[in-house]
Amino acid sequence: TEACNAAVAGGDALNAYSVKTPDMALEQAKAADERLGQGEAPDLCGIPLGIKDLFCTKGVESQAASNILAGFKPEYESTVTTKLWESGAVMLGKLNMDEFAMGSSNETSAYGAAVNPWRRQGSDAALTPGGSSGGSAAAVSGDLCLAATGTDTGGSIRQPAAFTGIVGVKPTYGRVSRWGIIAFASSLDQAGPMTKTVRDSAIFLNAIAGHDAKDSTSADLAVPDFEAALTGDIRGKKIGIPKEYRLDGMPAEIEKLWNDGADMLRDAGAEIVDVSLPHTKYALPAYYVLAPAEASSNLARYDGVRYGHRAKLQKGEGIHEMYARTRAEGFGPEVQRRIMIGAYVLSAGFYDAYYRRAQRVRTLIKKDFEDVYASGVDAILTPATPSAAFGLGEMADADPVKMYLNDVFTVTVNLAGLPGVSVPTGLDSQGLPLGLQLIGKPWEEADMLNTAYALE
Ligand code: GLN
Repeated sequence: TEACNAAVAGGDALNAYSVKTPDMALEQAKAADERLGQGEAPDLCGIPLGIKDLFCTKGVESQAASNILAGFKPEYESTVTTKLWESGAVMLGKLNMDEFAMGSSNETSAYGAAVNPWRRQGSDAALTPGGSSGGSAAAVSGDLCLAATGTDTGGSIRQPAAFTGIVGVKPTYGRVSRWGIIAFASSLDQAGPMTKTVRDSAIFLNAIAGHDAKDSTSADLAVPDFEAALTGDIRGKKIGIPKEYRLDGMPAEIEKLWNDGADMLRDAGAEIVDVSLPHTKYALPAYYVLAPAEASSNLARYDGVRYGHRAKLQKGEGIHEMYARTRAEGFGPEVQRRIMIGAYVLSAGFYDAYYRRAQRVRTLIKKDFEDVYASGVDAILTPATPSAAFGLGEMADADPVKMYLNDVFTVTVNLAGLPGVSVPTGLDSQGLPLGLQLIGKPWEEADMLNTAYALE
């Protein structure tokens, strides 16, 4: 209880929390104490967590960091958070993020950007914690909670984890229920843990994974004991290094991090092999067609009638003006851009040229991975991000495509529905954390986490 109070009281400089819930934390902490007193000790009993603002939490503001959901307090609790509370966890509050999870720096948030607790050596300049789960990353890295939920549509768990020196896991699509999570791109969205260690992620993932009849894409598969799988023994495992991820102009530090990671796995008894994922270069363009297409459809429900913000009508105006003005006032520029791109690529004249073609590319990307795994490879090792955390404001005003390039190593995993984990494995020359990514086989999170454990 004391630790929760301290965490909730401090840390405002990071702008990590959008809402703090000290009363709820106290109540849940007392209930956890009672359960412990009765000899009942579920895995997360008394563990203080932060919850990304994309998760619906009953009676607590759930705004997806958007003005259009101003004041929205759901009548229901998401499946993920329900499972966390059943495991005894304590909610400290809701965490900042990019608006509707669209962004890579937390700068599209209606609450303003969250701030990375790390600084470049000898500099006070505020850095991005990454995005879209930037508040989650800042809060875990800055000791404002022990772990946090994130969501990952194109890298939003793994990239901020890498930027803040923590572990982030994107599970196999369907492993974790999406019910009660505000939808961005439904065929890509997956929730997962953001924690300080691989072991914490394993425990957290066990708490939230499993079939849910309320999400038709949730898989009816047994959930293994992820923590028990952490033996550190990876002898005989085959780890693939995909040549297409060796980008032109890749910073030497990232290249070295990657080589060092491969050496570490080899020293632990794994076999390192070169592999090819030939359609990698089409992943970003395909993602930035498909994700906006799905977003434009998912975000159509925010019309000023059912949730949050509603524009005031002038005399003589009707419902069409109300819809239009509500959406113009409520959505920020990046979200509006995505809705426009999405509506365009789905429109009758352009559907075949953009949306259908991107779906075909997605199938090819998935097949690239299937071929590599069919050749006996157990996991794939890549950098998590093309750089360390950048300065707040450094990219925000630039060409939006520059920001999209941050996701070059992560979006393939979502397009193929695979599990991925980002593990902090080094620092750059300015003292900032860097992460490596392991991509696992579908439903093989246990094996993937064990390999991550050997890297940690
Ligand atoms: N940065 C990517 C985007 O803006 C990924 C976001 C995410 O994973 N939610 O779409």
